[in-house]
Amino acid sequence: MPTADPTDIFEASPSELGITWKDGHRSVYSLHHLRISCPCATCNDLRGKYGPLVINRDTIRLKGVEPTGRYALQLLWNDGHQTGIYAWEFLREICSCPECAKKGAAKS
Ligand SMILES: [Zn+2]
Ligand SMILES: [Zn+2]
Repeated sequence: MPTADPTDIFEASPSELGITWKDGHRSVYSLHHLRISCPCATCNDLRGKYGPLVINRDTIRLKGVEPTGRYALQLLWNDGHQTGIYAWEFLREICSCPECAKKGAAKS
């Protein structure tokens, strides 16, 4: 398992959040991707009932990013949603860069 600790969290662009990991890997997430992947119970429930969350990718923005303990990030969204706690491991897992996408494909 690669280490799942970040060394840097940065705004890659107005619509993207970037994370640099301890092992040197750099992930860039579209905010839309992060929002629809929200791991909280409410979103899990909605996805279970209605399928993928419907979020406007042009307007979804982060209002804030709060570290939660040593293991996760709480993302505060401009649509008022803020119960999503994104564990480092989870974030690392949903990295969609070509390198990680290849690994994910090999796993399944
Ligand atoms: Zn959620
Ligand atoms: Zn990656």
